Formats: sequence, C-alpha cells, structure tokens
Amino acid sequence: MSDCLFCKIIGGEIPSTKVYEDELVYAFRDIAPMAPTHILVVPKTHIQDVNGITAENSAVVAHIFEVIPKLAAQEGLTGGYRVVSNCGADAGQTVPHLHFHILGGKQLCLEMA
Ligand code: 5GP
Ligand code: ZN
Repeated sequence: MSDCLFCKIIGGEIPSTKVYEDELVYAFRDIAPMAPTHILVVPKTHIQDVNGITAENSAVVAHIFEVIPKLAAQEGLTGGYRVVSNCGADAGQTVPHLHFHILGGKQLCLEMA
C-alpha cells in the first residue's frame, strides 16, 4: 500500500534499523523502544491487523512465529520476552500494517490492560 508507513519502511523509502529480512518478512528496531530490545516483525505483504489474517495469507504469520524465536536468541533474550500485536483503536494500534512487537531485555510489567 503506497501510503502505509510500514510498507514504505519495507520498501526502503523510509529508513529503519533492519534486524532481519527474508522473502516474506522484515524486522526492524522500534523507533521509540519500550524495552532494551524492542523489535517489530512485519509481513512484507500489506495485512491491516490480526483481523486481516485469513486462510489465504496465514502462512506468513506462521513464518513470523518461526522467525521470532531466532531473533530473540540473536538478541540474547535468554530470560524470556513478550510478543504483542495491537489490533484496532482500543488496543492502541497506531500503524495499520500487521506487526508483532518483540519486547525483552528487562523484567516486563505484568499488567495486560
Ligand atoms: P502499534 O502502536 O501500532 O502497536 O505499534 C506501532 C509501533 O511503531 C510503535 O511502537 C512506534 O514506536 C513504532 N513506529 C512508528 N513509526 C515508526 C518509524 O517510523 N520507524 C520505526 N522504526 N518505528 C516506528
Ligand atoms: Zn503496509
């Protein structure tokens, strides 16, 4: 999508600190980290949010969850980490391109809501 921030990051139109890339996914450091490690993992295809996942496109989501543990290991998150995907306004989603936050490197707050 031409006016999507994360599509522009994937396309290199907007710079980012790349952590990992393959044919399906792109991972980069969050611009406003909420933990010592804060990585965003996104599908290269534009999917709006979790509600946009279908039988036709879910293979990329499975792939993302294969990539996530590898990135966590690469980042040295041996003590654990959190994976978050905000979906919609009530969850505070600010970028309407499906993304998974990897947060770690400290004892994370347990509050969920
Ligand atoms: P959301 O709030 O939609 O779950 O997460 C969007 C995330 O994207 C936020 O954590 C925000 O800091 C991050 N973000 C927004 N704009 C940019 C940007 O231009 N570059 C990078 N690297 N991260 C961004
Ligand atoms: Zn997009």
